[in-house]
Amino acid sequence: MEIATSHHPVGYNNIYGQEKAVEILKRSIVSKRIPHSLLFTGPTGTQKTSSAFAFLKHLKCTNPTPDGPCNICRNCYLFDHAMHPDVKILEPKRKARRIPIEDVKALIWFVQLKAYIGKYKIGLIKEADRLTKDSANALLKILEDPPRNTLFILITAQKNALLPTILSRCQEIDFFPVSNEIVTRYIHDHELHHLGPEDFLVMMSGGRVGLLSQGNLDIIKRDREMIERSLCLALKKDILGLLELSEETFMMLQEFSEELKEKIKEQAHQESYSEKDEDEMQAYIEGKVRERLDTYFNVFLIFLRDIFLYQTFQKAFPLKNQDKSDLIHSVSLVWNTYDIERRVSLLEDIRSRILSYANQKLALDAFYLGLLTG
Ligand SMILES: [Zn+2]
Repeated sequence: MEIATSHHPVGYNNIYGQEKAVEILKRSIVSKRIPHSLLFTGPTGTQKTSSAFAFLKHLKCTNPTPDGPCNICRNCYLFDHAMHPDVKILEPKRKARRIPIEDVKALIWFVQLKAYIGKYKIGLIKEADRLTKDSANALLKILEDPPRNTLFILITAQKNALLPTILSRCQEIDFFPVSNEIVTRYIHDHELHHLGPEDFLVMMSGGRVGLLSQGNLDIIKRDREMIERSLCLALKKDILGLLELSEETFMMLQEFSEELKEKIKEQAHQESYSEKDEDEMQAYIEGKVRERLDTYFNVFLIFLRDIFLYQTFQKAFPLKNQDKSDLIHSVSLVWNTYDIERRVSLLEDIRSRILSYANQKLALDAFYLGLLTG
């Protein structure tokens, strides 16, 4: 078993918000009514996987209390060191980013072996929406007739992509974005202030603390630098500069796509692929690129909102991009409220249509040049 390691030990203490989910999970242990299959569902970044491990640690603990695991027994130690032998994790792999049927068969074999410690054997399926049709059907058979002392946890941000027959076999546990106060607490506890102004991080997360990772924030940092430059160029009415920046944004997307492709190929270097696999990988990457572009526009929108608020309320309103207040001030001297509103609608228009744009480069040109005129 491998758990995405963080410097915090596995436990409910590291789950922020999600009280309802955690309550249901604890109660199932106290009442000793553990369902055979659970479905953890909710948007990306709502700590579904961390909650699954916290629950499993509690479930397997030798001396549990109603509130959680003891944190000192052998079970707890194994969970904290990401190597529990009674848990097997499946996740998408290969070019197609699918969960193949061989993996599901191996999992079914695994859960039927006697537990190494305690009684439960656990199969955890990340991104369960990536099960192939065959894999899903194989899984369905064991969910319909589960061996004793087995537990399956399926995790997904796309519940609707699962077979209805699988959904009907699972008890659903819902995860939600949390309040700004909770995100703020997360930022404090994890000492993330070096990654950006607190208000900005809170807004960026949209209540999903799992999005506040180093990797995501490196991306956002680069985005903020590009946005800062584009606003300066727009103020100077530098058409060529804006077109260059459009080119740079496009290259950034290309690089992102290439890196993703490399990573996938690296993971799958010894396997052979069908044309269908190649198509699936391409579709997967295109989806990720669209998400990447959407993040960029989202960060841009937060800047425009700041400019709007500054223009309207002057200093009475706290800015999300407090560290860029000089720039925001300069822009608000040049653009009036109407100018800003037009640029916000331009952004929202391009953002919603870019998904269907055959030519992202043209859309980006239109956006950057639109910053000049709105
Ligand atoms: Zn324990």
